[in-house]
Parts: sequence; structure tokens; C-alpha cells
Amino acid sequence: MTNDLFRADAYLRDCEARALRAGEDGIVLDRTVFYPLGGGQAGDSGRLVLSDGRALAIADTRKAKDAEGRPTAEILHLPAPGQEALIAELKAGDTVHAEIDWERRHRLMRFHTATHLLCHLVPQPVNGCSITPDYARLDFHMTEPLDKDALSAGLARLVAAAHPLEVGAISDVELDANPALVRSMSVQPPRGTGTVRTIRIGDDESIDFQPCGGTHVANTREIGAVIVTKIEKKSANTRRVVLGWAAV
Ligand SMILES: [Zn+2]
Repeated sequence: MTNDLFRADAYLRDCEARALRAGEDGIVLDRTVFYPLGGGQAGDSGRLVLSDGRALAIADTRKAKDAEGRPTAEILHLPAPGQEALIAELKAGDTVHAEIDWERRHRLMRFHTATHLLCHLVPQPVNGCSITPDYARLDFHMTEPLDKDALSAGLARLVAAAHPLEVGAISDVELDANPALVRSMSVQPPRGTGTVRTIRIGDDESIDFQPCGGTHVANTREIGAVIVTKIEKKSANTRRVVLGWAAV
């Protein structure tokens, strides 16, 4: 399995690691700062620097899957094309320095945290989510119209209020007793370890409190200038809210 360092500290940009295996399906390390695609958040890109200084470009990160297609505890670093010779040189046990594209990741963290603020502003179930460096979108299960400018103003207010974000955990038993905590209809929080990671925004639970395995900024102020660029009626029961960066 891969020790996922970003779960405890989303601000880690690099780490030393040992290769467990390297092949055409990707490179598995014993520990990593690379976030794998999940919960709507895009996987990280970056590079793995080998002990002789040469670097393997990593284009994306995914969870490995077992024969039945279920995610495992291994994280796959997917090399950019055209690096077969270098990948073949990487052997199990080799030490590498894993570095994420921090500028890109920080945008993902800012957008991801903004989607939590959106959940506060729109208290409806979420049935879709996608977070990329350039835009983020959340689909809400609802029939009422939404006001783009009012949501942008609401986001700006919550960002300016500089609410701290805290990572915690609740037990599977507590979560089962409070199913309303899970806002997403499409993404269930990862289970199996007995506890589920939670995100709390605000000094009490007033802004947002829900299970989430993604990466976030530590304070809403760090989100910066995010606006609602579009609201779409995806179906009779779905309103899609698209977030973008405000021109500065
Ligand atoms: Zn989250």
C-alpha cells in the first residue's frame, strides 16, 4: 500500500520515497504527496526525480484497482508518454524524490474548498462534482432556480470572513447514525478503516461539516477571487453551478 501523506498535510509539496514497482500501468511508491483522482478532484501532476538527478514527468495520479475494478490502497503515478526507457530503469527499492506541481495543486485546493462554501450557500444534495485547475462544477439535486450573482457575492463574503478549516474524523458508527452528514449522492466517503475523515469550516459547524477525502486550504481567505461563471439546468432536477477564477 501507499502511505498517502497529503491526507494529514495537504501543503506537503514533495517527499522522499521508495519505488515499490514501476511498469506501463504506472509507478507505485511506498509514500507519496500525489493526490489520486477521487471525490471529483483531479489527480496531481509533477515529477519523480531519480537518485542520479534525471526526472520522470508524471501526468496524472490514480488509485490502483484490483481485478474486480475496486480501488486498492495503492496510488499509481502515471508517467507522461515517451519515457519508457527511463521507466524501465526504475527498480523496486530505488529512492526517488516525489514533487507535485504545487501551483496546479494549490488551485485545486482553493477550488475544492470553494465547493464546500457552495454547499453552505445551496443546502441541497450534491449529485455530481468535478474540480480541475481551471474550473470547478457542482451539480445540485433541485428544481428551484439559482442566482449567479447572489452566489458569487455569498462566496466572496465567506472567503473574506477568513473561516479556518479543520480536518477531523468520525467513526463509521457515528456516520451511520447521522446519514445527513453525507451531502453527496454520488460520492460516498471512503470506508473500511473504522473512521471517516471529516472537514469542518468555521469555529462551529455553521459553515460546513461533512466527510471528505480531498485536499483543502487551511483558511477560506486563501481561496481568493472565485466567482460563479455559469448556472446550467442540466435536467429537470439538476442545477449545475460552475466556478471560475475572477479576472484580477
Ligand atoms: Zn472536501
